[in-house]
Amino acid sequence: MAKLEGKIALVTGGSSGIGLAAAKQFVDDGAYVFITGRRDAELTAAVKEIGSNVTGVRGDVSNPGDLDRLFAQILREKGQLHVLFANAGVARYAALGTITEELYDSIFDINVKGLLFTVQKALPLMPDGASIILNASIVGSKGFAANSVYSATKAAVRSFARTWTTDLKDRRIRVNAVSPGPIDTPGLNELLASSATGQQRAKMIAATVPLGRLGRADEIAKAVAFLASDDSSYVTGIELFVDGGIAQV
Ligand code: NAD
Repeated sequence: MAKLEGKIALVTGGSSGIGLAAAKQFVDDGAYVFITGRRDAELTAAVKEIGSNVTGVRGDVSNPGDLDRLFAQILREKGQLHVLFANAGVARYAALGTITEELYDSIFDINVKGLLFTVQKALPLMPDGASIILNASIVGSKGFAANSVYSATKAAVRSFARTWTTDLKDRRIRVNAVSPGPIDTPGLNELLASSATGQQRAKMIAATVPLGRLGRADEIAKAVAFLASDDSSYVTGIELFVDGGIAQV
């Protein structure tokens, strides 16, 4: 039997990059998957690419009304949710001294507030023994230049995995964080191209990653599927680094 056979899963930000790869992996592993994203065209293209056992729901995770509509739809159509991959997130560079309130609010609203309320509003649909995976990042443990706001959001995400593991222990709901290194996605490529800091970072990557290359989204997806399934039945509260070794040496 496929390892996610019969499971209902949600991937936020499932129309691109790591989220899209995870949604494909979940479907390959037997799950029915809901994906969300903010833009209709990308969402429709992603649903087409995944092909079957998938529903796209447009919505912004930082908007509580959109989350309410999303979970109402999942409840109506499938009745429950066994796996949640809280993946939607954004990154922008700004060195200390140039950080604006707008930048702070926009990144924290999506990566921290959006992720928190995604999980909280999903809980009533989740049966005992369900699995929640939070997309953190190696940057939560590093001090890369001009990256303090984004890095702080990911440190918060890693912290949520610890506390929620305790908060949900009576329901045996497992909560784990996955921390990707630099992964070749539309989001990363846009970020690296967006500024001089990004262009310098792009040159550094191959030299500083022990495995000498960017990771692929499907390499994160496999780790997420492990955390989603019973293969990881005794794993909770962890941060699983999938980073080519960059944050390990
Ligand atoms: P991406 O830009 O290719 O995909 C991001 C997805 O999130 C898109 O589907 C986008 O529509 C969605 N999204 C963004 N804001 C949203 C919002 N407010 N509401 C709903 N959906 C929203 O980026 P990616 O590289 O695949 O990043 C996915 C996650 O992985 C992010 O949380 C990111 O921080 C994390 N991450 C990425 C890398 C990397 O190197 N690519 C490394 C570590 C962590």
